[in-house]
Amino acid sequence: MKPTLSIILLLLAVGLPSASAQDEKSASGTTAGLAKIDITPRVPVRMIGYASRDYEGEPAENKLFARALAIGDEAGQLGALMITADLLGIPKSLSDRVFERIERKLGISRKKFAISATHTHGGPALSDYMQEMHFCKILPAGEKQHIDEYTAWLVDRLEQIAIQAAGSRQPANLRWGEGRAGFAMNRRVIENGTWKAMRPNPHGSVDQSVPVLTVTAADDDSKVLGVFLSYACHCTSYAPPNKGFHGDWAGAAARIIEKRHPGSHALIAAGCGADANPEPRTADAAPFIEKHGNELADQVDALLADSTRTFRLTAPPKCQTRTVQLPLAFQPDREELEGWVAGQDKRRAFYGQIWLDRIDLGEAVPTGFDYLIQTWRFPGENDRSLTSVFLPGEVVSGYSLRIKAELNNDSRRLWVIGYANESPCYITTAKEIAEGGYEVIQSMVSYDKPSSLAPETEDIIVGTVVELAGGKAEQGEE
Ligand SMILES: [Zn+2]
Repeated sequence: MKPTLSIILLLLAVGLPSASAQDEKSASGTTAGLAKIDITPRVPVRMIGYASRDYEGEPAENKLFARALAIGDEAGQLGALMITADLLGIPKSLSDRVFERIERKLGISRKKFAISATHTHGGPALSDYMQEMHFCKILPAGEKQHIDEYTAWLVDRLEQIAIQAAGSRQPANLRWGEGRAGFAMNRRVIENGTWKAMRPNPHGSVDQSVPVLTVTAADDDSKVLGVFLSYACHCTSYAPPNKGFHGDWAGAAARIIEKRHPGSHALIAAGCGADANPEPRTADAAPFIEKHGNELADQVDALLADSTRTFRLTAPPKCQTRTVQLPLAFQPDREELEGWVAGQDKRRAFYGQIWLDRIDLGEAVPTGFDYLIQTWRFPGENDRSLTSVFLPGEVVSGYSLRIKAELNNDSRRLWVIGYANESPCYITTAKEIAEGGYEVIQSMVSYDKPSSLAPETEDIIVGTVVELAGGKAEQGEE
């Protein structure tokens, strides 16, 4: 970075920094700041995640949190800002509202800002996010008002931690490595190439890696300031009839890590785990939630204890975004929609009528939708690098497995994070689209999508990630 006039004038006024101060700063090359805030609803708000849980959430002992990690360079420039939150997903309008606030206060560009959800199914509903489509009924006006009020309050809270994290940056060592945890299991049972049921499938595709970014004080590596990790699994241990807001395994992992490292903040994101559930899943989930949380915390501690399993990131990332158009497989016509309305499937009947009404008002059934792909390329020690990839929606394991197979090598590591920035729908692979099933088609009603994705979706996303993360598109990076 070129020194700005104000920095030059400041140096002239106060003199050059002493040699020791310069050495201390260049030891890490990076600064980091972290913050955390309680986002548990203070008033009744409808929960979201299970369509069968048709009531407003109750206050509970368990808290929901959002956490922020700001990464800067040694000259004080803010390089990247990450927020994770105990929510089911991040609707685009929430992402946009938070970014507008942050841009105004911190002057950061969109490429450098990412926000992702843990996909806890014990979180509150949000404005512009499923609602009617999820529950297949029109919500009472009072409930909608609660959701809008909560969302507005949430935007304030997320702005607050972003600014707090950016303002608390200090010289820090960032290191990245990968552990493994065994509780994610594929949940798609396939017979003769066709989806049969949502049940544990120990032979199905799953990504059990635990990518971990550790943040320690530059002058004391034993002082853990924060951790940012992801795990590719649904956050669904805590199912109905359990009531009350809950962060599930992700909330437990963050709490346990923060307890083991007092003063630290632990950001947890969901990886490409849309076709995986935590196992075992039982009505009494509490002991398993703690077990999964401890398993992830153990992975963090193992990486902190053995620096040969991690490498140091030497500067803030080069950030890039690209919006691609994802195609839908088909566009139902009026006759088909009328068939849905007359059929036995209540969800399709509700949704079919919505589309018939829209067509009457002149709206065309969409052929596709915009999809934001974001990459952060961190340079690392010994010519190594890490690229974190942020993908919107419920991304299945096949994506991270294929992206890593195509791009991971001795000098470059890939880290793929789902449920990021926007919540369009499930993002399934070409193979899964051919098999059909819940993630491919039944779930699409919740996301206001009248069709499954077209099979070319997979190549469009992977091709774009390969281009951005492979370093072929450095132009436009910030
Ligand atoms: Zn899901």
